[in-house]
Amino acid sequence: MRRYAGEELVDRILLTQEQIDRRIAELGRAIAEEHGGRDLRLVTVLRGGVFFLADLCRAVDAPLSIDFLAISSYAGSSEGTVRITKDLDDSIEGASVIVVEDIIDTGLTLNYVLSVLRQREPAVLEVCALLDKDARRIVDLPIAYKGFSVPDRFLVGYGLDIEGRLRNLPYIATVHDDRVA
Ligand code: 5GP
Repeated sequence: MRRYAGEELVDRILLTQEQIDRRIAELGRAIAEEHGGRDLRLVTVLRGGVFFLADLCRAVDAPLSIDFLAISSYAGSSEGTVRITKDLDDSIEGASVIVVEDIIDTGLTLNYVLSVLRQREPAVLEVCALLDKDARRIVDLPIAYKGFSVPDRFLVGYGLDIEGRLRNLPYIATVHDDRVA
């Protein structure tokens, strides 16, 4: 089996590259069926979401555009208080917007992003999340398109990092317990 740099941190592979690819093809087909013909925008939050977005947009056989925003937590503030450090480039007024997220944990980040985007009056505002750590949810969020439910473990790979690394693993894995802060 091929070895990847940094793999010594990995405990167990939870989702293989093939499982991820197959699920993304299904999500892409569902999005194209429901939103094809509309002004479809796939929007993601930097940085982790770009891996999923890049694969998902190629699985959607319909005209669409992509856009990015970046956020950061206010230092010393309570969880969920975030600010936009890079805004979308395009207006989303009247558009069908799908926010593409790598993982939803407590839901606080996405809840903030959705509240900001809602004020810009898109015609549709939905969520497509590859991974849902539903046991940890604090805010209830409607997820129109969901890849997989995952257990409450710290995950790496396919965009998810540990201290900035391992985003480039092609699979999603847990890390050894002693590596998680
Ligand atoms: P939430 O606001 O839903 O609690 O947090 C969502 C963000 O936390 C994700 O976009 C991701 O950046 C980070 N996150 C949540 N769970 C994990 C995980 O298991 N691994 C990694 N690397 N990041 C995670």
